[in-house]
Amino acid sequence: MISSLPMNSGHEIPQLGLGTYLIPDDDAERVVADAIELGYRHIDTAAIYENEEGVGKGIASSGLSRDDLFVTTKLWNTEQGRTEPRDALRRSLDKLGLDRVDLYLIHWPSPMRDRYLDSWLALEELRDEGLATSIGVSNFQPEHLDRLAAESATIPAVNQVELHPYFQQGVLRDRHAQAGILTESWGPLGQGKYSLADIPEIQQIADETGATVAQVVLRWHIQEGLIVIPKSVSTDRLRENLAAGELELSADQMELMRGLERGQRLGPDPSEATF
Ligand code: NAD
Repeated sequence: MISSLPMNSGHEIPQLGLGTYLIPDDDAERVVADAIELGYRHIDTAAIYENEEGVGKGIASSGLSRDDLFVTTKLWNTEQGRTEPRDALRRSLDKLGLDRVDLYLIHWPSPMRDRYLDSWLALEELRDEGLATSIGVSNFQPEHLDRLAAESATIPAVNQVELHPYFQQGVLRDRHAQAGILTESWGPLGQGKYSLADIPEIQQIADETGATVAQVVLRWHIQEGLIVIPKSVSTDRLRENLAAGELELSADQMELMRGLERGQRLGPDPSEATF
């Protein structure tokens, strides 16, 4: 059973969802339909993933009632601005075959463009019009959150950031907790860039609980109060990842996981990214 967390928008978000980065459009229908069949109720996509059509087909073929599903998409950097997000969201909704998303995120602050505040003001309007039920950000650093807080009326519901055992984002998470922003982990399994099974502490907890190393890591995210969106195209792994909802880690096991922090970022530094 996957629990939901209350967002500051007054709506709820299922704590575990399906990530779809690098899932080709042609495969997305099958993967999303599979995931929904297995019990996933939260799908994360983005305009830049170029798979919104496939994701939409998967949603449609599931036959699930729209209100039972939580769908996130994201505004790409080249569409940032005071007016551009409206067309960008409309295009995403057309591809998804939906009349609203549950969460619309600014994908990156892209500080070199200096348009994230304008984009945020545009997202507020799109939310007010019902095209996005809740709005949030992704890859925002404290300075970007400060600017939104100073110059807009809305605190982001969510900040989706790189977060995994080697990069636990302590400073940002404290900041989110103070502001009432939920933290969503992208790359929660380390994007396969380091081997979870080769980390003795994770393997030890897997042995103690009879769970897989992926389940241990996903369960750690969940018990930390994070939202987690692991990606897989394999039905077996989709099932395995969802079953992290059934696991329980002890306080000692949680502490062992926290001790793995290394400050090891795998993706771009959002403050310095030049895209
Ligand atoms: P991830 O940490 O989810 O890792 C995916 C990799 O782990 C894949 O190679 C997959 O085969 C493997 N994997 C999945 N389940 C497994 C299991 N049970 N056992 C062993 N290996 C397993 O990385 P991700 O896909 O980059 O991140 C998750 C999601 O976050 C993305 O799909 C996307 O939706 C989102 N994301 C957002 C941003 C952003 O900038 N906002 C950036 C990257 C990803």
